[in-house]
Amino acid sequence: MLKTKYKAIFRCMDCNSEFSLDEILFRCPKCNGLLDVVHDIDAIQETSPLEWKQIFESRFRQAKHPYSSGVWGKKEWVLPELHEDHIVSLGEGGTPLVPVPRFSKKLNLENLWIKQCGISHTGSFKDLGMTVLVSKVKELIEKGKYIKAISCASTGDTSAALASYASYANIPVLIFLPKDRISLAQLIQPIANGAYVFSIDTDFDGCMKIVQEITSNPENGIYLANSMNPLRIEGQKTVGIEVIQQLGWYVPDWFLIPGGNLGNVSALVEGFKLLYETKIISKIPRVAVAQSHNANPFYKSYLNRFLSFEPVQAKKTLASAIQIGNPVSFKRAKRALEYCNGVVEEVTEEELANTSAYLDTFGMFTDPHTGVALASLIKLKQKGIIEEKETVVVISTAHGLKFVEFKVQYHKKELPNIHSQYVNQPIMIEPEITKIQEKIQQLFS
Ligand SMILES: *Cc1c(COP(=O)(O)O)cnc(C)c1O
Ligand SMILES: [Zn+2]
Repeated sequence: MLKTKYKAIFRCMDCNSEFSLDEILFRCPKCNGLLDVVHDIDAIQETSPLEWKQIFESRFRQAKHPYSSGVWGKKEWVLPELHEDHIVSLGEGGTPLVPVPRFSKKLNLENLWIKQCGISHTGSFKDLGMTVLVSKVKELIEKGKYIKAISCASTGDTSAALASYASYANIPVLIFLPKDRISLAQLIQPIANGAYVFSIDTDFDGCMKIVQEITSNPENGIYLANSMNPLRIEGQKTVGIEVIQQLGWYVPDWFLIPGGNLGNVSALVEGFKLLYETKIISKIPRVAVAQSHNANPFYKSYLNRFLSFEPVQAKKTLASAIQIGNPVSFKRAKRALEYCNGVVEEVTEEELANTSAYLDTFGMFTDPHTGVALASLIKLKQKGIIEEKETVVVISTAHGLKFVEFKVQYHKKELPNIHSQYVNQPIMIEPEITKIQEKIQQLFS
């Protein structure tokens, strides 16, 4: 059985007010600041670094459900006081960390790994955070709190994860999607799970405003699932811990991660912080946040050393899950980058499309957001910020199969204003064996 001496609370980033995790809060009720989930680090430190490593390793992909989950295998660091019966898990986390040696050679990098977060129940890393949020909501409902539905605005992957986890736990879901701005796979997921799906003629930022409005009054009983809610961060923060564990507790020099609402980068660094505070690692990896030039408010703020922040009107990008102009977690992400001495890069549509397609020729199947991270890696390498001998991990945030339209259009050269460099087309030929054999001979001559 798990020990329960470990504790966590909400704390406001701005005024440091503290609240119980049993309160229904999305922001600080005193100053409207963003909330963190803060752990009792002294209690965690009572267990030695070696013991923690052994505990995590003994569960990883092998313990009994739900502790085989990459998230719940680290429950003491995630939601220590949650009752085991309330865990809503679909086997998230524990995703492959894959070396890509031939590709890295082309980039003049000695050690490059891809963390395949898209190999997950709903096809994106959003499952990591949603398992925690939905579990906590299930517990709140059991404890008699008034919650009749969970709701989110989404660029596609959050809603897919929410619809799935909440349906699994038999909790109704309300979803607000920007009309015609998400992929078909992303749209059909919550529909299949029986969520109420509102398709709104606005962008993500417009949907976010709506959902904040409808969840702001507790009397409505509608619970907010966007990453403003720090419970999501608690699950997502396991990814950095998991990567380091998969490397035998070796700390890479760099992580690259695409950023939109900036919850995921904040979570990544929270994981490193816990590893550092427990002395499991003695160095903090640097993080590079990758944005699309068409939705680059964080990049712009970075250029100004984060002294100011201006929301932008996000323009259409193939990396549709990061088409966000006013990221909710800006302050968290700024703190995270300052902590890890991070950087921000941006890339064009053509760069992200060609880089995705290029990695695919090495056997991967790259979603456009991972394309943004990879294209940023190439730029940072060219600038000399990332060096040949450094170990680099790219966080792949979604499965390429969620973005098949993007792939099809790329290979048909139908992406507007993009010169597709790595096109491959089916060979059209009659069903005649001699012709086919001739063709094969040509291919290998
Ligand atoms: C949500 C999402 C992101 C961005 O994560 P944030 O936490 O919003 O920065 C990146 N890639 C994919 C595939 C996503 O679904
Ligand atoms: Zn506050």
